[in-house]
Amino acid sequence: MIKAPGYLETQKGYGRAERTVWQAGRKKRTDMDRTEEIEETGTAKDVLILAVESSCDETAASVVKNGREVLSNIISSQIALHTTYGGVVPEIASRKHIEKINQVIEEALCEAKVSLHDITAIAVTYGPGLVGALLVGVSTAKAISLAADIPLVGVHHIEGHISANYIENKELEPPFICLVVSGGHSHLVAVKDYGEYEILGRTRDDAAGEAFDKVARAIGLGYPGGPKIDKVSKEGNAEAIAFPRAKVADSVYDFSFSGLKSAVLNYLNQCEMKGISVCQADVAASFQKAVVDVLVEHSMQAVEEYGLRKFAIAGGVASNSSLREAFVRECSRRGIAFYSPSPIFCTDNAAMIGTAGYYEYCKGVRHGYDLNAVPNLRLGERV
Ligand code: ADP
Ligand code: MG
Repeated sequence: MIKAPGYLETQKGYGRAERTVWQAGRKKRTDMDRTEEIEETGTAKDVLILAVESSCDETAASVVKNGREVLSNIISSQIALHTTYGGVVPEIASRKHIEKINQVIEEALCEAKVSLHDITAIAVTYGPGLVGALLVGVSTAKAISLAADIPLVGVHHIEGHISANYIENKELEPPFICLVVSGGHSHLVAVKDYGEYEILGRTRDDAAGEAFDKVARAIGLGYPGGPKIDKVSKEGNAEAIAFPRAKVADSVYDFSFSGLKSAVLNYLNQCEMKGISVCQADVAASFQKAVVDVLVEHSMQAVEEYGLRKFAIAGGVASNSSLREAFVRECSRRGIAFYSPSPIFCTDNAAMIGTAGYYEYCKGVRHGYDLNAVPNLRLGERV
């Protein structure tokens, strides 16, 4: 259980209207206190963000100092739990988040060697994601914000993924082009400034990670598919099977992966009908190459056309070794600076939320206790 200063105080039964006034007063005083502190000491204090992430199947908390220094990064993954069902079961995910969230936050504070007294603001993912899962993080962050009198900052999950690039690349500043490829999203984005995004392309059907997971299941690798296909592909021939590279007629930057997924399923059916044995590694490698080729081609086209010589990748699929190698090669050939987070910051984590939250906090973003989970929150949208 997290021991927050002022916790008992907040147990008094305030009515809705009274509570709003009381919170507003508390928030104002808190911000003023901080300004006074800076004026008194003459130096800006470190900004410590406590970040919480629970949008899908990872319960995560982190403490991030001044936006780019990760003091702790605790992730409780539910992968083993969902493997039995071949994918994430939303109801189970929510229940597990409730069980884990306090423990994960406590660990994050403990590892960072700080207490809630030291925290400047609490950042939390409020969308997009599974509504029940998001609600656990949002409710917990609101409770801590209220009890410990810490400002609350809601963060967009995909903005978090993009911001993961700032953690290890201290020199990286917008503008740059970023490819976000995860289990639920595939976006090609122009990052114009901190918190300012223009979506150039998106998937018309399956997300890249979703395609990895579905194909992995079809060839008997199981869940989660991405890392397994990545591994098994190293033993296979990527030229063995000619899978299609889909183009979307009216948008050069959009993606479509459902045709590729169907092509893999058709290939497997045909092999079965003809009694031909399937080489799992060749199918995996050929499928992976088809995804990588499309992602690289579209991304490089965007980088060249927008004249930005900086390119970054983000999201779970960005940890794919073949994709990373392809981008390293292609960017170096074209003289483009390439950025990628370490795999631990590619898949869901709270450090990336802390980084995105820091820039939101610096811009003056503060959320009230009416902050809600927004499962379909669009990139760049502010609620
Ligand atoms: P989301 O935010 O949509 O929940 P994550 O960012 O956590 O997704 O990424 C999870 C997705 O990334 C899954 O679809 C998983 O299969 C995929 N993934 C993880 N590692 C790899 C890898 N090495 N190669 C390809 N895909 C991967
Ligand atoms: Mg994610």
